[in-house]
Amino acid sequence: MSRAAVWRVVLDMPLRRPFDYLPPQDASGKPVRPGVRVRVPFGRQRLIGLVTGEAASSDIAPERLKPILEVLDAEPVLDAAMLALLMWAAEYYHHPLGEVLAAALPKALRLGAPASAMRKVWVVSEEGRAALLSGEPRRAPQQRALLQQLFERKGCSAEELGALGPNARAHLRSLVHRGWVAAIDEPLIPAAVPAQTQAQGFALNAEQHAAVATISASLQSFGAYLLHGITGSGKTEVYLHLVARVLAQGRAALILVPEIGLTPQLVGRFRERFAASLALLHSGLTDGERLDGWRQAFTGHARIVLGTRSAVFAPVRALGLIVVDEEHDASFKQHEGGFRYSARDLAVVRAQRAAVPVVLGSATPAFETLYNAAAGRYQRLSLPRRTAQAQAPRLGLIDLRVNAVQAGISTPSIDAIRRHLNAAGQVLVFLNRRGYAPTLLCTACGWTAACEECDARLTVHQAAGRLRCHHCGADAPLPECCPQCGFALRPVGQGTQRIEEKLEELFPDVPRVRLDRDAVRGRGDIEAAVQRMVSGDARILIGTQMVTKGHDFPNVTLVVVLNADRGLFSTDFRAPERLAQTIVQVAGRAGRGDKPGEVLIQTEFPDHPLLRSLLAAGYDGFARTALIEREQARWPPFSRLAAVRDSAKSAAAALAFLTDARHLARLPPKVRLFGPVPAAMAKRAGRYHAQLLIESSDRGALHRFLDSWVSQIEQLPSSRRVRWALDVDPLELF
Ligand code: ADP
Ligand code: ZN
Ligand code: ZN
Repeated sequence: MSRAAVWRVVLDMPLRRPFDYLPPQDASGKPVRPGVRVRVPFGRQRLIGLVTGEAASSDIAPERLKPILEVLDAEPVLDAAMLALLMWAAEYYHHPLGEVLAAALPKALRLGAPASAMRKVWVVSEEGRAALLSGEPRRAPQQRALLQQLFERKGCSAEELGALGPNARAHLRSLVHRGWVAAIDEPLIPAAVPAQTQAQGFALNAEQHAAVATISASLQSFGAYLLHGITGSGKTEVYLHLVARVLAQGRAALILVPEIGLTPQLVGRFRERFAASLALLHSGLTDGERLDGWRQAFTGHARIVLGTRSAVFAPVRALGLIVVDEEHDASFKQHEGGFRYSARDLAVVRAQRAAVPVVLGSATPAFETLYNAAAGRYQRLSLPRRTAQAQAPRLGLIDLRVNAVQAGISTPSIDAIRRHLNAAGQVLVFLNRRGYAPTLLCTACGWTAACEECDARLTVHQAAGRLRCHHCGADAPLPECCPQCGFALRPVGQGTQRIEEKLEELFPDVPRVRLDRDAVRGRGDIEAAVQRMVSGDARILIGTQMVTKGHDFPNVTLVVVLNADRGLFSTDFRAPERLAQTIVQVAGRAGRGDKPGEVLIQTEFPDHPLLRSLLAAGYDGFARTALIEREQARWPPFSRLAAVRDSAKSAAAALAFLTDARHLARLPPKVRLFGPVPAAMAKRAGRYHAQLLIESSDRGALHRFLDSWVSQIEQLPSSRRVRWALDVDPLELF
């Protein structure tokens, strides 16, 4: 076979085509290896790209083709399976392949770092060997001794050099100068750790056992499983048992968890159970640590890879299982930047292509996942009981219209808090709004403090004496009086700080801890706050969304949800789903020990059908009711959505691009466009946001349409005046 005329190289750019290059001069005759990195000339720059294939000829005139400068990898950094998955993702999300491939690699690799850690090793050259045999260097016995040692040890690294004598460095320089010793780079391969299970774990209960048995009966083939179990029902224990089986087969496991779920407790449970090496990949890592984790997976050293969203692209060798814990969590969806993907959905595709099982675990599965399970695409495995003695909490509604309220806390809630504290319980008060008060109001003239950059009010941060925008971060001093009329100002509404203040007033002797983004910054702070509750040092926990994830508070017996109503009347069709997930997840923090839990939900709409069905029939019943509504309204999962979002310096420019895009659309049957419309909060951080929605009952038709349309709209002149992105299967709508 004759040698390929050109190599196809994809660069990290928003362009939908590969570039043709001549093979590198020193690689003549060698076959092309897709997935290796290469350095190429590009205009005046030199860029790093990925080889995706080869071709017998190019459309570019031969004299304009340039050769590849350098091949960076001996082994592809993206193997054939990963490359195929990423190509699939580029098509599915209609995103330029170069940016998709870039998203799959740690930054350090995109900048050219070697795929394996390398170290410099000094070895004796052919000439050096000859010199040594002939007794050289006669007049420098220390140099000779060093040469002898290097020869016997078959080389040594810079770190080991110090041990070879006091002046080893100077002698080495002389030996190198004479050509008797040379430096080579060699990959640093960490010593393999045997993958054994070192602790046995619990004897599984019947449901856990059934789940493990079902999944491990077909570890060698694809299967998607929904592991539906309330918080504390033992899902993690099921994962651990499955991982043990996979390791025993000599294969590796990929475990994906939400951003905030990657707690030291979880990592600790894996480390305690397995002697196998574990690689961590999450967003809190430095570029170097991230590269390290990637390399541990790439070299096959790590047998368990535990990570957040982008770890779905981790180069796991001999993949045997994928787990997506808390699969409903929104952090699995990349909703910023250009390449917007769902790590959960890609995990399913990856598992399918790799012919391995994927386990989606949740106490509150996404409606899409429930739908897939009902349709038979996923096999549903339930863990209906809590482990140990823990019982499911009792849920009750408190009607805010008929009960007295102090700073957002109703009298029945206050009574319940007192009762539980007196019974030696702990209390969790949930409010998904940080700060002191969401509004600063002048009661004389009606002025409110608004953000200049956003269509939003500024939140009062009383203790800090600041007004802050929670959307753009704008920050200003708290005014003493109304800037419009000079009258006194009043904070209106509640944030977690105000709730804390009220609880301090009501229960002055009970130690409290607050868990929100103002109270805790780093991971260490969260752990410290959690620890204060777990140790009993604090007995009241006031928190936002942050408390709903990951952590267990075994002695919490009462949960008060201060306001459930924001989710009931949102324009976003997913708001009820999110509300129910939040309530069930917060409720799940209560009564995990041997004490029964109580959950009180404050609402002004106690007769709302969604709240009623949640209380009467639990999350499942709620989902059934809500899914009927979605079917009637033709929302996902009964249709497919994509959205083009944009933002611009003016509202007109944001709408102009989307209007042009709409005009370009030649709609096939079954594909509909909605909009463009400005976002509910149109102005954010000084930019105006808008959206055009594409809907279809036919996935194939939707994607065929997007295929041609997206490449047309990116040519529109108005596209250059906006920042825009396509979001396939968007999670949040404006
Ligand atoms: P989930 O992941 O569903 O929240 P976990 O696996 O963390 O549940 O289990 C909840 C608690 O019950 C943990 O403290 C765990 O150690 C314990 N546990 C899990 N399975 C069992 C079992 N079969 N027997 C006894 N305790 C168990
Ligand atoms: Zn005023
Ligand atoms: Zn703002």
